[in-house]
Amino acid sequence: MTDDMDRVQQHVEDCARDALAAHALRQRQPGRTTCANLDCGADIAPVRTALGAQLCMDCQTAEEAQAAHFKTWGRR
Ligand SMILES: [Zn+2]
Repeated sequence: MTDDMDRVQQHVEDCARDALAAHALRQRQPGRTTCANLDCGADIAPVRTALGAQLCMDCQTAEEAQAAHFKTWGRR
């Protein structure tokens, strides 16, 4: 028998698994030497490339600011 708490628990586990899978995928991507933003194309510092960076500092900062702005709980 499934009650509401079981469904909530399952949802939380699904979200955690998805987030971990997305994180693992990002970690496997090789870093870029130039910004992935086609409108930018700036060089990425070798230390950031080694860490798997896809965007230059400016674009990464802008993307994180936008992501934080639009982040809402419970939305996929
Ligand atoms: Zn950029």
